[in-house]
Amino acid sequence: MTANMTDAHTGRGTARSRTERLRELSETYSARNYHPLPVVIAEAEDSWVTDVEGRRYLDLLSAYSALNFGHRHPRLVAAAKRQLDRLTLTSRAFDHDTFGPFCKELAELAGMEMVLPMNSGAEAVETALKTARKWGYEVKGVPPEQATIIAFTENFHGRTTTVISFSTDPDARASYGPYTPGFRVVPYGDLDALAAAMDESTVGVLVEPVQGEAGVIVPPDGFLTGVRRLCTERGALMMADEIQSGLGRTGRTFACEHEGVVPDVYILGKALGGGLLPVSAVVSSRDVLGVFRPGQHGSTFGGNALACAVGREVVAMLRTGEYQERSARLGAHLHERLRALPSALVREVRGRGLWAGVEVTVPAREVCARLMEMGVLAKETHVHTVRIAPPLTISETDLDWAVDRLAEALG
Ligand SMILES: *Cc1c(COP(=O)(O)O)cnc(C)c1O
Repeated sequence: MTANMTDAHTGRGTARSRTERLRELSETYSARNYHPLPVVIAEAEDSWVTDVEGRRYLDLLSAYSALNFGHRHPRLVAAAKRQLDRLTLTSRAFDHDTFGPFCKELAELAGMEMVLPMNSGAEAVETALKTARKWGYEVKGVPPEQATIIAFTENFHGRTTTVISFSTDPDARASYGPYTPGFRVVPYGDLDALAAAMDESTVGVLVEPVQGEAGVIVPPDGFLTGVRRLCTERGALMMADEIQSGLGRTGRTFACEHEGVVPDVYILGKALGGGLLPVSAVVSSRDVLGVFRPGQHGSTFGGNALACAVGREVVAMLRTGEYQERSARLGAHLHERLRALPSALVREVRGRGLWAGVEVTVPAREVCARLMEMGVLAKETHVHTVRIAPPLTISETDLDWAVDRLAEALG
């Protein structure tokens, strides 16, 4: 107590570290809806972060793919700074000079025709669900209030009340009812179950091409092709939630490309904001996004000038294909190295590109805690999976160093 008081008054002393004091503030004054590792980050550059004690760590989480281009990429920071000095927000009540160019360039990157910008991923998912229902009633001709949308077990599409209504994760869902009706959930990867669940009321199928939060689950070969075929045959929109899998993470611009599949709707977020701010979007055809009329949907911050400036730079960086190529090349190396891990504690290694789920027989959090001590930040997903998703800009040397630390942590 005395030591603590001395510490508080002088700002010196070693009784409690800055980390401990800051962790206590967070724990006391923030809702406990997360359980972070006990590190407090103060600065970051590219793949490396520095904590308040000056310790450095390699970031293997990349904020769940929001940091595909690393921390504070110079091109993205420069684009943001230029825009900050010019215009940040108009609301959609007025057009601004980066809005149209952003929408055009993003639509072209996706091979689509129209964009509806939002902010968070969950908002983009909500927007896609509203799009599918509206399209279902106004274009497909589903009777009022009858539309159904199909999602898959172990899905993760965000945290809003409607989105968690079709979650199968008890933590995500419990105590939040009554739930939004109109959803059917079938096993991920099961085309027969999907076919059986679809009927004239089905307006859309919402699918993650790789399930990230579920533990980097890659579906069986042919699954995405099958979803595409069923959606085409039954006249439903295939909506690919590429918020985590898209924009280079799997070695392609979109994870759907691994099966040569083009969905009706892409849902994008995370890396679209370049790790600087939340930017999300629904990207689709004129036939689909054309259902919206003024006043029928919106967002105060969606499509703001700062977001569009950063989003344009993200699109420009992806247009050359260099990040996708890097993710594919380093990803192949990563998977080769992970598969060769000697540890008896590894049950399975999954993933595509610079994205891996390492399923271990011990609690993954213990592995992550050990990694943290060695200067590597990774986060478990569910109990047994260590997720590995470094910035796509990571050097091969750093990647190898991280895998060596993982081997050591798995002892
Ligand atoms: C992160 C994520 C979301 C939600 O995005 P937020 O920005 O956290 O709302 C939705 N879908 C997938 C696949 C995600 O990984």
